[in-house]
Amino acid sequence: AATAIPSTHKAVFIRETGGLEVLRYEDYPVPKVGDNDILVKNKYAGVNFIESYFRKGIYPSEKPYVLGREATGIVVAKGQNVTKFDLNDKVAYICAGTLAQYTSVNEHGKIVRLPESTSEEKLKLYAASLIQVMTAVTFVREAYTIQKGDFALLYAAAGGAGLAFNQVLKSAGARVIAVASTGAKLQLAQEYGAEFLINSSTDDILAKVLEYTNGEGVSVAYDSVGKDTFDTTLAAVKRKGTIVSFGNASGSVDPLHIGRLTPKNVKLLRPSLLGYLGSEEEWDFYSRQLIELVDGGKVKVLISKVYPLSEYKQATTALEARKTVGKLLIEI
Ligand code: NDP
Repeated sequence: AATAIPSTHKAVFIRETGGLEVLRYEDYPVPKVGDNDILVKNKYAGVNFIESYFRKGIYPSEKPYVLGREATGIVVAKGQNVTKFDLNDKVAYICAGTLAQYTSVNEHGKIVRLPESTSEEKLKLYAASLIQVMTAVTFVREAYTIQKGDFALLYAAAGGAGLAFNQVLKSAGARVIAVASTGAKLQLAQEYGAEFLINSSTDDILAKVLEYTNGEGVSVAYDSVGKDTFDTTLAAVKRKGTIVSFGNASGSVDPLHIGRLTPKNVKLLRPSLLGYLGSEEEWDFYSRQLIELVDGGKVKVLISKVYPLSEYKQATTALEARKTVGKLLIEI
């Protein structure tokens, strides 16, 4: 039941791990569509920092490996057992291999059908928010329960995930202490909900946290920088505080002796978004919530630049060099 699907398409992939030079944008076989799969012709795909971990080998993958994990697009083929989707359905989904013209997705995977009337703007917005906004929503709901007035320390506060965290934390009642590397980034974090600002290029992060929290430290810290900031973060949480360590922008956190958590009875989590979306019920719940939040403007998504698929390398070059704010999007 497929309209003419080509045998090859353009995809961004790697054959080996390494620097930006291992990124390829070339012809690649269109993925096979199994009996329970649908084939999506992608329209927009999000750029996420996680791709750099797969490229560098911080996270493992089989090669060749097509990058990308979120997109919106249109169903152009389906396997014989598929019941939830039809050809021409508009969809938004999380799955590996979205930096490509076509992606094959299991119908029971992390995919949601969108109304036929879904506008181009909405297709952009959903592709720009699936991972980063859902990360903020799930982590703020599940990793630590915010009490009104809690101080929350947030790194990379003007990035894609960061701008979402600012808003979700603020609406949960937290007082956000934002860390970013420039004044312009901090101003943006403030516009999205941060109350206190720390410039990591000029300020002593720990001293500032203690100043803002009357010497006590924060209730919760969301640390995606990893290696360079873990020790500061551990020092910056208060007694019985929680550390949500969720990224490796500066490298993986060094192995630690659990005894380091004892002096302050600190809770430490190292969650992944997918770990909160493990069942179809969880996916249904959070994908519905995401669409409501974005449609209702309760979480604003700043798409700072849209690149063609052929320029993914430029996009991630800027992202990895800390030169971007908000979300980078790929138009396919
Ligand atoms: P961002 O748009 O936030 O970009 C990364 C930002 O990290 C940079 O702009 C920079 O901000 C900051 N940064 C700090 N140190 C470094 C460094 N040494 N090199 C590069 N950047 C650095 O990216 P995303 O929104 O895509 O992701 C943010 C973080 O959240 C990433 O670490 C990502 O892996 C993590 N993440 C984890 C998830 C999970 O499931 N565990 C899900 C989603 C995201 P500044 O210059 O202000 O310091």
